[in-house]
Amino acid sequence: MTLTKEVKKQQPKQGMLENVMKQFNAAADLVDLNPNIKKILEVTNNELIIHFPVRMDNGDVEVFKGYRVQHNNALGPYKGGLRYHPTIDIDSVKALAMWMTWKTSLAGLPYGGAKGGIQIDPNKYSNNELERITRRFTYALGENIGPEHDIPAPDVNTNSQTMAWIADTYMSTKGPSERSKNQHVVTGKPVGSGGLEGRDRATGFGVFLTIKFWAENKNIELKGKTFIVQGFGNVGYWAAHFLELEGAKLVGVQDAFGSIANPDGLGAENLSEYIKGNNGSLIGYSNGKAIEKEDFFGLDCDICIPAALGNQITEKNAQKIKAFLVAEGANGPTTVEAEQILLKRNIDIIPDILCNSGGVIGSYFEWLQNRNGELWELDEILAKITKKMAEVFRRVSKTSQEKELDMRSAAYMLAIERIEKAYVQRGIFP
Ligand code: GLU
Repeated sequence: MTLTKEVKKQQPKQGMLENVMKQFNAAADLVDLNPNIKKILEVTNNELIIHFPVRMDNGDVEVFKGYRVQHNNALGPYKGGLRYHPTIDIDSVKALAMWMTWKTSLAGLPYGGAKGGIQIDPNKYSNNELERITRRFTYALGENIGPEHDIPAPDVNTNSQTMAWIADTYMSTKGPSERSKNQHVVTGKPVGSGGLEGRDRATGFGVFLTIKFWAENKNIELKGKTFIVQGFGNVGYWAAHFLELEGAKLVGVQDAFGSIANPDGLGAENLSEYIKGNNGSLIGYSNGKAIEKEDFFGLDCDICIPAALGNQITEKNAQKIKAFLVAEGANGPTTVEAEQILLKRNIDIIPDILCNSGGVIGSYFEWLQNRNGELWELDEILAKITKKMAEVFRRVSKTSQEKELDMRSAAYMLAIERIEKAYVQRGIFP
């Protein structure tokens, strides 16, 4: 089965936008959001769809569809990743841009929210083609992105190499004296090209941290606990890596190609090495038994980490989940209906806008470093991410306890109140 077909089945169109709007409306009611500000936040400021031609290795020209949606910039420049995926459409990018606004607001960063990407299956293209596609997309985006305006970063199927191409293309379009000062047009760059030490692991590390803080609050030891991960890309792998260091055991993994399980532990490092040498697929990994896709979320485990795409935990599988904690490494992995089922079953959920915010927090440090011409070391950076995430986690827990709310509602309240305050202080132009 090709990646395209598999993923299309997993992600019904329109689902994510409906989901984020339901979450937003519920939160707006909770904070009694000013109706005029609600009108602003329920729409996206700018939506860009661009078609651009690229020459393929065989000489043919293919025309691609790229997106950048800027949801809101009340708190600062637009910020958010670029994903390369066949299921990308305008509604999914709008939803993902909104989630970025809530995420950056909750984390207390001076950013708004955006998201973008290209509707492609990157597995079908050579590295040279991907470079030309990325560079031409950057050129087509032109001044719609910029270091103090809208700052992309990696997301699903994009990485530090993608960011290096974008930075180089963007900087090359400037005059010689302007080039260096535009380096922070993207974050998540390779360390040799203005990237931040540890930005690669920042999201997965943050997922691990929120699980650790949650367990500490509940007096639960992570040592000996079992966990499953959906999506073994950058986020899933690093979350598993740090959980294993804490003595927890990875017992199930699902990726776009298949699902495997081993109650004695799959071994995150060995699995990651295997996947690298197996065209990005976990199929055939000898230390795990292949299981049916439908059985994945029902695996025996303590912690479930969806770290792939949106709308994966739905009404259909929420009843089957055995974990006592769902930690959302992905954006929008749980539908509102599924969340109700999980909460009724006393399963806690660390919501995406908190759980995976280590990535954009790392991005913020990279942006600051570039802007100030500084270079920080890995231990210093991980300590800064830890401090920031501990502070955000504490605020969400406190609100959730005081208001007797689930963690998502508490996180949304804090995120929306901060944006509302900015609008109330500044008023509406003119
Ligand atoms: N793509 C990541 C996210 O969804 C990171 C965004 C960023 O660093 O700007 O949070």
